[in-house]
Amino acid sequence: MIDFIADKFYYLFLGWIVMNLMQRRYKNLGSKKRNATLIQAVMIFILYIGAMIIREESLPVKWIALPLAIIAAILYFFRDKVLPYKLRCINCGKRLNTNEIFMLDANLCSDCNSPHPQNQGIKSQEKEKEGSPQELN
Ligand SMILES: [Zn+2]
Repeated sequence: MIDFIADKFYYLFLGWIVMNLMQRRYKNLGSKKRNATLIQAVMIFILYIGAMIIREESLPVKWIALPLAIIAAILYFFRDKVLPYKLRCINCGKRLNTNEIFMLDANLCSDCNSPHPQNQGIKSQEKEKEGSPQELN
């Protein structure tokens, strides 16, 4: 398992960075999802570095528990930031497509995301909710 992580996770990390770069074209429509892939990439990198150190220093395999504990702590304390995904539209409950799940922050389906007047209230409420945690940072 250590060899697998040490050999393969660097490419997994690069894949996440590429994903993060692809998300750039959505700009502020997807900034939360972009931050999420960045944190996920850091978590992958922590595990990769942990496995590398264990292999290079010939440490017991049980030391992999340390990077795993760090990752678990990140997941625990920043769950909403690391995993901001919703499978269904937060307004109507319709299933979202891949783009809406992984790229766009709104978590709204294409029907609810169109600029009809009846949707404006929902969207501005959502913006206020999203605005407050960012102000804390
Ligand atoms: Zn909807």
